[in-house]
Amino acid sequence: MTRDPRYDILFEPVKIGPVTAKNRFYQVPHCNGMGHPMPRAVAAMRGMKAEGGWAVICTEECEIHPSGDVAPYAEARLWDDDDIPGLALMAEAVHRHDALAGVELVHNGPSCGNLYSREVPIGPSHQPVNGYAPVQARAMDKADIRAYRQWHRDAAKRARKAGFDVIYVYAGHDLSLPMHFLQRRRNDRIDEYGGSLENRVRLFREVIEDTKEAVGDRCAVVVRMAVEELLGEDGLTSEAEGRDVIEMLAELPDLWDVNVSSWFNDSTTSRFHPEGSQERHIAFVKKVTSKPVVGVGRFTSPDTMVSMIRRGVLDMIGAARPSIADPFLPKKIEEGRPDDIRECIGCNICVSGDFTITPIRCTQNPTMGEEWRKGWHPEVIPAKTSDESVLVVGAGPAGLECTRALGQRGYAVHLAEATTDLGGRVSAESRLPGLAEWARVRDYRVYQLGKLPNVEIYRDSRLTAEHVREFGFPHVVVATGARWRRDGVGRDRIRPVPGFDGAGVYTPDDIMAGAMPAGPVVVFDDDHFYMGGVLAEKLRREGLEVTLVTPAEAASVWTANTLEVKHIQKRLLELGVEIVPNRTVTGFDGEAVELACVFTGRPARQPCASVVTVTARWPEEGLYRELRTDPDALAAAGIRSVTAIGDCLAPGTIAMAVYAGHRYAREFGEPPAPPVPFKRELAV
Ligand code: ADP
Ligand code: SF4
Repeated sequence: MTRDPRYDILFEPVKIGPVTAKNRFYQVPHCNGMGHPMPRAVAAMRGMKAEGGWAVICTEECEIHPSGDVAPYAEARLWDDDDIPGLALMAEAVHRHDALAGVELVHNGPSCGNLYSREVPIGPSHQPVNGYAPVQARAMDKADIRAYRQWHRDAAKRARKAGFDVIYVYAGHDLSLPMHFLQRRRNDRIDEYGGSLENRVRLFREVIEDTKEAVGDRCAVVVRMAVEELLGEDGLTSEAEGRDVIEMLAELPDLWDVNVSSWFNDSTTSRFHPEGSQERHIAFVKKVTSKPVVGVGRFTSPDTMVSMIRRGVLDMIGAARPSIADPFLPKKIEEGRPDDIRECIGCNICVSGDFTITPIRCTQNPTMGEEWRKGWHPEVIPAKTSDESVLVVGAGPAGLECTRALGQRGYAVHLAEATTDLGGRVSAESRLPGLAEWARVRDYRVYQLGKLPNVEIYRDSRLTAEHVREFGFPHVVVATGARWRRDGVGRDRIRPVPGFDGAGVYTPDDIMAGAMPAGPVVVFDDDHFYMGGVLAEKLRREGLEVTLVTPAEAASVWTANTLEVKHIQKRLLELGVEIVPNRTVTGFDGEAVELACVFTGRPARQPCASVVTVTARWPEEGLYRELRTDPDALAAAGIRSVTAIGDCLAPGTIAMAVYAGHRYAREFGEPPAPPVPFKRELAV
């Protein structure tokens, strides 16, 4: 296929100081939960993006000194020369595919706790360290400032030695010393580094100049800066100081990588912001500098990308999540097959890897984080090893991905779905407020299935064990999903709630199927992920009086890991949903729920006409169990294996279901995996 000439502009080279990017696709720094403890895994993950056509590929935050130690988070590290070989692996992997490697040098000052190094945190002024430990950072004196500048210079030289082409000075996300010196609210110095903006920008300017002096002959020196903190007068704004800083330093760096702060405002989920939503904050930057400008916006549409360039908003298309969901996004546009792009759904499961300090995973791309330890490639999969056929029952995310990947391997696959709709839970959930983009999980796979002549899809086909045996396909995958429990048993509450077996009690499945409870309604969120908050929002928007009761300290509390918890509270409160935290539900009599404080047990009554119980789920395992209970009947039917995957095995995230489907397909017909089914990076 040939590329649409409209997209040619995306493949123009861009000069960044002394280096040249081969096209306009730029993977901005993003964390991955692997960092310096897993250098091979990181190198393979980044190298995959280089193979997929990204011209610039950056690290996550890279600590430059033990006094800027972000432990327990797993980021890159260049404290001394011993850290060079680990990071060099990534630069080598990126260079193998003719891309530029970038490193985001960072000293987070008072925004890190030094929990591993035990150094005393430092900052522009005396101030508490947030989120790590109940300690304070001390104000840096002039000698500290000189020392910090030297650490940054040394780290830049190490980065160059490790093979990096692009070296960052970082002032983003309400993190890093240059940013904290800029922020009036954090900097109350009375010397030449505090007070006027001219003074507060001094350190930033010096560090950019230092870095250029140290490595600027061979490496591009670029800046990542948050130009808008969304804090009004308390922060930098794109109308005032954020803009002023860019104007003051306009021509100093070789490239500006600009965004909105802090991280939860930058990487917002699709529930809160559409593609390209940062434009209004960053559009001014190109007007005040002649240097190339990179920005992000969860860009997955080549038309939007072209528009960003043509309208003079950006020079390069920055992406973290779109490059995670599809490392081959640039290649697919280049090869004239943009319809094959596996578009990011904006769910931020990838972000949760950073917070939980575990290898990054992605809802759309099950190979993310498995490039090195399992040798998985996002586009290539080994060919089939036999002519055996497979029946997949259930076309949710697990069944669809299993069918797609088996089909890609060349196996004959038969996919039976009970309803007329493909997609299972993603189809249902994508009809909830803000979750429309989640349908991309289905759409990508259904499109790919349409291209596979070896795959048959049967809709409207609810299979019984009898049917499955009659078909007699040698291998059966049961991906029949899960349903929400009605009895009130959830994460905190381990026994059924008296009264939940009566009228007026609804599950999320009921609401998604169109049931309308009578108001006032209590949503009992003992799931703690997005569903409770989304249903409260939906019912409130439909005019009901809604109270969300949760044993946790906030609605949808686990979404702290997807950067959503604050956005969710704000939205619910602004819509008029009452949030009752730290309470569990102990009974329902049709007129009120009985509540108990999770700390004291003190009872209370919350009047309501109905309850929506967002608690645990039951696997839909009936078909699986029935098939497994009669091995003789299976053998007589010629069925050699029956395997449950996804929510039908154990309800989890959509990402887990997609992964389960993919894993089955990868392992099918292969020798059994060893007890530890992946390579590890062992220190000794
Ligand atoms: P997962 O997340 O594990 O993929 P889902 O609940 O999203 O699970 O999808 C399960 C799918 O299986 C649904 O589309 C459902 O209609 C379908 N299904 C459930 N039972 C049967 C059955 N007996 N025969 C065919 N399809 C089924
Ligand atoms: Fe996008 Fe979700 Fe994948 Fe992150 S996990 S890249 S948000 S699809």
